[in-house]
Amino acid sequence: MKSITRQKPLEEIEQQLEGLERAYIIGCGTCTTMTKTGGREEVLDMKERLQGLGKMVTGWTVIPIACDEMTEASLKENDGAIRSADCLLVMSCALGVQKAGSYSGKPVIPALDTLFIGVEDKPGYFHEVCDQCGHCVLGYTAGICPITACHKGLLNGPCGGTNNGKCEIDKEKDCAWTLIYQRLKAQDRLDLMRKYQPPKNSQVIPRPRLARIL
Ligand code: SF4
Ligand code: SF4
Repeated sequence: MKSITRQKPLEEIEQQLEGLERAYIIGCGTCTTMTKTGGREEVLDMKERLQGLGKMVTGWTVIPIACDEMTEASLKENDGAIRSADCLLVMSCALGVQKAGSYSGKPVIPALDTLFIGVEDKPGYFHEVCDQCGHCVLGYTAGICPITACHKGLLNGPCGGTNNGKCEIDKEKDCAWTLIYQRLKAQDRLDLMRKYQPPKNSQVIPRPRLARIL
């Protein structure tokens, strides 16, 4: 599982940096290194691009796992360079940005957009498997998530547009509900196709979601 991210356009990063002339850059040694959006190479490239915009880079680091407790220790190690910066430009997923923000009084600027949590199908190809909806229906759908795998996120499918097993919205993509049907059929559990799934009640789980592990 990896946080899938995409680098923001340089113009947007420049806008966020308005009035902030000195930046300290933070990358992540895990997800954004793997997705080539915030590893060592991309951090050094960003350093050059910021300098090209006339910004000063006071230092940089690639934290092994930017979304966990190592962030605090790593920021302490680099305290001098961070203190002389106006802001932290963070090239990790949003979790790492929030961690960096909580451990430093400096403004944090995300250089990336966090897209989804994905698994790797083959080198370089990731797909979303779970939207963390709070009420899992995989037990009724043969282990295939209708929220992430179906283009319309239908809890009760198929939609009627499925054609020869392909999705009407993207003909390159298998229809999720055809896959669910085929797998349920192989498991001799086709009766589950008729089970009605009521709409999810998002109000049941107010944001932010919290968990207490006893
Ligand atoms: S139904 Fe889909 S989105 Fe919801 S928890 Fe299960 S896998 Fe995740
Ligand atoms: S064709 Fe299948 S995957 Fe596409 S929107 Fe309809 S049910 Fe969902």
